[in-house]
Amino acid sequence: MLDVETAQRKVLATVRPFHPELLPLSHADGLALTTSIVSSVDSPPFDKAMMDGFAVCADEVATGRAKLRVVERIMAGMVPTRRIERGEAAQIMTGAPLPEGANAVVKVEETRQEGDWVEISSDSVQAGTNVIWRAMVLKAGEQVLAAGTTLRPPQLAALAELGESQVSVRRRPRVAILATGDELVPYDQTPGPGQIRNSNELMLTAQVRGAGGQPLPLGIARDQEAELAAKIRQGLQADVLVLSGGVSAGQLDLVPKMLAAAGVKEVFHKVEMKPGKPIWFGELAASAGGQPRYVFGLPGNPVSSLVCFELFVRTAIRKLMGMSPPVCPAIRAKLEGEYRSRNDRPTFHPAQLRHTEEGPRAKVVAWQGSSDLRATVEANAMIHFPAGERHYNPGETVEVFSW
Ligand code: AMP
Ligand code: MG
Repeated sequence: MLDVETAQRKVLATVRPFHPELLPLSHADGLALTTSIVSSVDSPPFDKAMMDGFAVCADEVATGRAKLRVVERIMAGMVPTRRIERGEAAQIMTGAPLPEGANAVVKVEETRQEGDWVEISSDSVQAGTNVIWRAMVLKAGEQVLAAGTTLRPPQLAALAELGESQVSVRRRPRVAILATGDELVPYDQTPGPGQIRNSNELMLTAQVRGAGGQPLPLGIARDQEAELAAKIRQGLQADVLVLSGGVSAGQLDLVPKMLAAAGVKEVFHKVEMKPGKPIWFGELAASAGGQPRYVFGLPGNPVSSLVCFELFVRTAIRKLMGMSPPVCPAIRAKLEGEYRSRNDRPTFHPAQLRHTEEGPRAKVVAWQGSSDLRATVEANAMIHFPAGERHYNPGETVEVFSW
């Protein structure tokens, strides 16, 4: 059976990133740039006042005191109309361009204005005081962002400042989510005898969104060939189809068979892990001019679905979007409390991860196994324990994946 790393490598080897496309900057939040960005402008674009006050030539305030004639008032957005000559100053507001002849701004708190005159009393005026020079932050021709950068609020603002209203990025994948199982009812309905609510749908929807994808929940398919076939066909319209349930060895676990019938080629089925062992992954080859589709069959138990999403589906979404690194790396944390690990397979155990002044700390939460969603409610991460029997002492380093 494949181990987790090998299975992740197979996902990475199978999934091809989307082609870059130009999108409006307003749609690029959270996407990764495919090109580097070189500034076509200076920032700031002009010598600029950083305080409300008076633009002066610093020489004139060398003694700390001066009385200057106010010859102009320059608000942000205005352009100075004249040069500051000897004995002169201009009233200026934060963000306004510095007039010629001035090289410093005395803040208003250090001045007293009387009619056309301003008296200055300040010990700290030098060339450059309260001024940001043109191109001090960024020169035209300099690289601002490297290819691969994920666009977060500051990067978006920087691109907006530079006038990059369109950027080359990889779009968000559309990820269809299909729950399978005769026992399921929609989560807003009351289950009858033997039934349970479809809790996976909302969980996977939120996980898809959190990973950067665009979720398309398709509801529930019964464990019945015709219904599965129809819903799978619908799901294969999306870039990625995530099913939950129906991939184990039960008599009504029809998902692998129905995916094969839909032309989806199996890449792997079953991974040496707990929970989530029955996971299925495959690819539907691209039709002419189209994109390939990627399909994950996650085991239906909620914790299995949760963990398999984090390890495999998230990896596929990140690869499609060109996010780096595609596999989210583990955090190394010190174990809080002791733990006796007795697992026949590598185990991803629900845990509480917290960041302390001494570094990350992780603690296992009580867990009954793959159906114990309650344990995950108390958790924000999973600790990876290798297979085997071993006693972990408090303070030992463990690998943690947060979700
Ligand atoms: P399966 O993988 O189809 O064998 O499902 C295993 C178990 O997971 C089922 O018996 C259900 O208890 C549970 N399960 C399956 N699908 C869902 C779902 N969509 N939401 C919540 N629990 C589920
Ligand atoms: Mg089932």
